Amino acid sequence: MSESKYILITGAASGIGRATANRFAGQGWRVGAADLDEAGLASLGSELGGDAYSVYPLDVTNAEMFDAVIAEFADWSGGRLDVLYNNAGIGISGYFEDIPLERSLDIVNVNLVGVIHGIYAALPLLKQTPNSLCFSTSSSAATYGAASLAVYAATKFAVKGLTEALAVELSRHDVRVADVLPGLIDTPILNCDRYVDGKVRSREGERSIGANTPDEGMFRLIQPSEVAEAVWNAYHEDKLHWYVPAEIEEIDLEKVKSPEAMRDGRIEMLKLMSGE
Ligand code: NAD
Repeated sequence: MSESKYILITGAASGIGRATANRFAGQGWRVGAADLDEAGLASLGSELGGDAYSVYPLDVTNAEMFDAVIAEFADWSGGRLDVLYNNAGIGISGYFEDIPLERSLDIVNVNLVGVIHGIYAALPLLKQTPNSLCFSTSSSAATYGAASLAVYAATKFAVKGLTEALAVELSRHDVRVADVLPGLIDTPILNCDRYVDGKVRSREGERSIGANTPDEGMFRLIQPSEVAEAVWNAYHEDKLHWYVPAEIEEIDLEKVKSPEAMRDGRIEMLKLMSGE
């Protein structure tokens, strides 16, 4: 098996995935970058330079395509995969009933089914690579379910649950499993479609998620390189859930004490925000 280490990242053309590709490449890792966005992959390739990377056009919702990407990646890496990073994701904001069903199902297909496809496809490589890590991007939306992001939050809870279950199961094969729960990260996903009364409403220059970001606190706007740092640390340490920033974990801890108190606080916040 090759001496170099290999990571395969989905959603690598932008935001967190791109920052992670740069972080690992900077440490001499070989980076497989997969994404729907082929132009983004090409520009990532120019940014990384050299020949220590390989790009793969991929729609994570397509299991056959994922299998083909893994086969091609395995040819390149000699069958080695140190980190599978399931990171591709989409967001759509708005009240549950305002978002058309098909769009909600798109979120499920990319954010959850895409992760499941990735793990099925890559597991043989992870199993044969010593000390490998199966890593995924969950979200702070999977601490207390985020209002106006209900289906998105549901997919991220699912990813967190999948991580916990597989961290136990895959220990049989010495494959480690962990995830990251980012807060508000400065990437294009914050400008995703926002639905009001069943129609997309975007306000020029205003984010659809985190529009009025505080300057401090756990929901301050954070650069994707901080999440990339957590992915790097996750490979080298043995933690299950990586919260970025670390204070996000407080929501999980508080919720355990009283989910009802947290629900009631969020209802008050929603009333304030909607001007009731
Ligand atoms: P981003 O929009 O910059 O990057 C997402 C990438 O996923 C894009 O390059 C996009 O082309 C790719 N993608 C989308 N659908 C795909 C598909 N079907 N197949 C392959 N690639 C696909 O956003 P980001 O913030 O970097 O998002 C990365 C992950 O982080 C997502 O899972 C997102 O849900 C999660 N996340 C983001 C934040 C945040 O505040 N930015 C917070 C928590 C979690």
